[in-house]
Amino acid sequence: MSIVTKPTATEKAIFHWDDPLRLDLQLTDVEREVQRKAFEYAQGSLLPRALEAHRTENYEDIPSLVKELGSNGFLGINLHGFGFRGLNHVCYGLVSRELERVDSAYRTVYSVQSSLATEAIYLNGSEEQKARFLPGLARGELIACFGLTEPNHGSDPGSMETRATKVSGGYQLNGHKKWIGLATIADILVIWARDEEGIVRGFIVENGTPGLSAENIHGKFSLRAAPTCEFRLDQVFVPETNVLPKAKGLSAPFMSLNKARFSIAWGVIGAAEACWKIARDYTLQRKQFGRPLAANQLIQRKLADMETQVALMSQACLRVARLLDEGECAHEVISLVKRYCAKTALEIALTARDMLGANGIIDEHHVIRHVLNLMAVNTYEGTDDVHALILGRAQTGISAFT
Ligand code: FAD
Repeated sequence: MSIVTKPTATEKAIFHWDDPLRLDLQLTDVEREVQRKAFEYAQGSLLPRALEAHRTENYEDIPSLVKELGSNGFLGINLHGFGFRGLNHVCYGLVSRELERVDSAYRTVYSVQSSLATEAIYLNGSEEQKARFLPGLARGELIACFGLTEPNHGSDPGSMETRATKVSGGYQLNGHKKWIGLATIADILVIWARDEEGIVRGFIVENGTPGLSAENIHGKFSLRAAPTCEFRLDQVFVPETNVLPKAKGLSAPFMSLNKARFSIAWGVIGAAEACWKIARDYTLQRKQFGRPLAANQLIQRKLADMETQVALMSQACLRVARLLDEGECAHEVISLVKRYCAKTALEIALTARDMLGANGIIDEHHVIRHVLNLMAVNTYEGTDDVHALILGRAQTGISAFT
């Protein structure tokens, strides 16, 4: 058998410096359309408010932002029925990337609502609970949060202290949750607590329920455009109708966490890409020693590294999205991309900050805001170390957690 080479293809191909591996050609028409709509929404509606929201720690407009995400059909975009669009995980990833290109806080709001809270009900709720809550969550008319972390238990949620005691007609919850996105503005709080048999169960607590008190965490230098909160549960009664029937054990919250981590992996590529392009534009315009900074080998090498990392992260995330759509994605794969993309995006943002010199610390150039945001993104939904331990355990068969 002779091997026929086709000399024309690569010789004629044009190099696209901003998309060298041609992500665009790998998307379907529907996916491209979702990306275009998300890009236009994020650049047109979110970018003009991001700087001031971050500067003043103002998140008054988050409820209207959630409604906008809903009316654009972005919320729970990968879910089916109940008013969701029933598209795929690639679309979910692309929307995440466009929102985080503006600010990680906006993508965080999206992940909390779409994955953490909504998927918890979608996967673990009764048909009655789904019919009651999911359409409002899809439209963004209801806001929801996901309360797993506690002041004393972050990486180790299995040690949670919040308790659910069986009482007539339902459960009584007592405990303290911390670092919970959106809790102060949430209409419903999905809360994880251990019952008297030691089993982790999921509860839907409606805002205004006696004994529930939430407040915003202040002094936060990251994700300042969205609320991160703590709340206390003091003899909070949850009727049987608000107990998630299929959630028994830690695997239930971990399933929602998995999708949120997937959204993070895609999202941070947007932040990284924004920083790379700001650094490119800046170094092309800024002259030192009589010529543009971009004329220096050291600068070009940094730009080449950023381009390579963004292109490879995009390919990895696209692959993971397709695996999810095919039902072939193990949770370790999501650990791999969450960890790698969050870490690499932060490296890119830090390098870009340096390339902007003194201007790199001014928020009008946006890069420092991404740097600060990406620090929290590296911590939440499993730290870099914790995802390394998950991957290490899968590779060696030895759990190094304890
Ligand atoms: P710790 O668990 O105390 O970890 C501290 C350090 O020790 C880290 O570097 C960690 O990697 C390391 N470490 C821990 N265990 C090990 C080990 N076995 N071996 C080696 N190193 C280890 N939670 C929610 O439930 N809902 C939310 O909506 C939510 N939103 C958040 C928003 C923000 C802005 C932030 C910052 C957090 C949010 N979280 C939320 C909580 C988040 O998921 C936790 O902060 C995260 O899991 C880490 O827990 P921790 O902060 O308690 O750190």
